[in-house]
Formats: sequence, structure tokens, C-alpha cells
Amino acid sequence: MNFSDLGLTKELLQAIERAKYESPYPIQNEAIPAILQQRDLLGLAPTGSGKTAAYILPILQRLLQKEAPKERFVPVLVLVPTRELAVQVAEVAENFSRFLPRKIKSMAVFGGVSINPQMMKLHGVEILIATPGRLIDLIGRNSIGISRIHTLVLDEADKVLNMGFREEVEHILELLPGKRQNILFSATMDSEVELLIQKLLKEPVRVQVEADNFTPELIDQKAYRVSPENKGPFLRILINSGDWKQILVFASSIRTADNVAAKLSKNGIDAVAFHGDKSQGARTEALAKFKSGKTRVLVATDLAARGIDIQFLPLVINYELPRSPKDYVHRIGRTGRAGAEGEAISLITPEELHHFKVIQKKMGKRVELLDSEDFEKTTT
Ligand code: AMP
Repeated sequence: MNFSDLGLTKELLQAIERAKYESPYPIQNEAIPAILQQRDLLGLAPTGSGKTAAYILPILQRLLQKEAPKERFVPVLVLVPTRELAVQVAEVAENFSRFLPRKIKSMAVFGGVSINPQMMKLHGVEILIATPGRLIDLIGRNSIGISRIHTLVLDEADKVLNMGFREEVEHILELLPGKRQNILFSATMDSEVELLIQKLLKEPVRVQVEADNFTPELIDQKAYRVSPENKGPFLRILINSGDWKQILVFASSIRTADNVAAKLSKNGIDAVAFHGDKSQGARTEALAKFKSGKTRVLVATDLAARGIDIQFLPLVINYELPRSPKDYVHRIGRTGRAGAEGEAISLITPEELHHFKVIQKKMGKRVELLDSEDFEKTTT
């Protein structure tokens, strides 16, 4: 299938070409025509599947047919659970929009940062990407109106609900016009998501894909047996042993993430911690620097790292194992995306060994366990 088979106009096809997307991902094949026909859509797809472009492209096409709004009423609302996803979606919209005949203004709004600068930039926004709490604040201040939207997207709906935003979402839904197109994406299904789907979607087209550009087979997984006191020094040896441009290190707590990043920096390795205790400004900056290759190592906790999309991340290191096997798969899935080869290395203390076996069993894949001391001998 080509992008030109999906019902997209010449303008959009040109923008896609200039954004260097060669052919559509499976979710895009199915979702784009349905959204263009203004059907409601249920997408069961995780981050990494290409879901963002799947809804942004047809939305841009529809917006292009109209003039930019002159008032404070926004035509398209994308609700997201986190600030990081908000920024990412806005980047995708921006990436295509800059190649279109008329620039379509999109904007991410989220809490944890001062509201005034956001209020000042809202004028003429056509795609508003918002976390629920901040959106309600902005509506309360009369900065934006959502009573005329024609398209609502609820992205990562499962996470929106898991994070406790159900009431906010219900409140927002009450403010929307009755006639609108609804698009809901979720990586997982449970009774709460099901309820929301029933409430929100009318005769939806259902599309379901695995994150098929996340290819576990392409990830070279390794583990090193290491003593607890040698973890820090071994991490440094490991990082210095290759020329990986970007390395994402996972720690299980905010304190460890801070400590590991500080130790690495002290030893001349460019590293920044990334976790929920950092201010929004610090998180955005850390991520931007890491994405652009200015910071080589990002030391993150699981919560902060969810949904981060960095193309072609070459190496993930588990400084500590996550509690759940699901999180392990999620972590290593940060590499080996979009068909690129990646490496995942776990540092395993004797205490973690049993847990690591459980993870491998659940994952259905064995990981070679190597000796850190042997490795040190070969590199020093
Ligand atoms: P998403 O699931 O929306 O977070 O997208 C995952 C990654 O795939 C992003 O980095 C997108 O830029 C990229 N992507 C999405 N669709 C395509 C495509 N058709 N061709 C190449 N890259 C794509």
C-alpha cells in the first residue's frame, strides 16, 4: 500500500514525502481512510505503531479545506495523558504542517508550567493538544473554547484513565458539541476503557495493530552479572566501551536516577536525570538535549520514560530491573524501533537473578548472562 492509495490530497502527499515517510504503517493504512470519511475510530495500538500520523494526517487534510479560525474556538482537540506525549504529538503535526500550502497552527498545553505564556499563544490554534487538567484551567479562564470542535482525539486513553483523569475527561466531554468525529486510541483494554468507548464512539471503525515496527528480534539483549558495589563503575566501563550516540539508562527510583546521573557526570560522561520530580522545564530541556544528541546519556525512571519516542535509540541499559516483565519489554522497546537494530543490556546482581529469570520466562526469550569481570578484562 502507498500513501497515495489512502485518499489523501496532493498537498498532504507532498508533505508526507518531504517528511520522508516512504510508505504507510499498517495502522495508517486502515485508520487514514476511515478518518477521512469522518467515521468514528477505535484504534488499539501502542506508541511506536505510527498512530500519531494515522490521525494527524487526515485531520490536517480536513483543516486545510477551511480557513483558520479567527476566534478562540478550536476545531480539533487531542487529549493526552502526559506532557511528553503532548509535545510529541505537536511535533508530528508541526512536522507535516510546515510543508502545507497553509500553515496549520498546533499547540501543546500541559500543566506543571506557568499558564500565562500558553494563554498568550492560543490565538488561531487549530489543533490543540492538551492534558485534561490544564485544558480545564484554560477553559475556565476563557482562553479557549471547545464548544465548536469537529474532531476529538483521545490518545492513550488507557493511560489517561490510569492516571486518574476520568472525571476531567467527563467534564470536558460535557462541553463538546454533540455532532463531532471521535477518535480513540488505547494500547490496552479494560472495563474502564470499554465504558469510555461506549460513551464516546458511535459505530466506530475498529483497527488493531501490534507495534509492528517494534521488533524484539532486532534487539540484541545481553545481561551482565555484577556485584551491587560494582554496578556504578561497570556502567561507566560499559558506556565508554562503545560509540553509542545516545544511551537510555533505566533506574527504578528517582533517587537512583539522580545518583547515577551525578556519578556519570562527575566521571566525565555527559548524563542527565529524567524523572517525575523534575520541573516540566527541566524535563523538556533534558529530552530535547538528549534527542538532539547534545546529552549522551539520559537516566530515567519508568514513569518518565513512558511514551518517549526517540527514533533509532541504539542502546538501553537496565541499571536496575523493573518490577514487572511488561515494563522490561516496554523499556527495551525504546530501542529497535522502526526496523532499526538496537541493544539492551541489563546489569544483574545476585539478588536480581531470580527476578530476571521470571522476566525472561514471561517474555518467552532467554537472555545471555555474561560475566562483568570478563568484560572488564577485555576492555581495560
Ligand atoms: P508513533 O506510534 O505515532 O509514536 O510513531 C512512532 C514513530 O514512527 C515516530 O517516530 C514516527 O515519526 C515514525 N513513523 C510513523 N509513521 C511512519 C511512516 N509511515 N514511515 C516512517 N516513519 C514513520
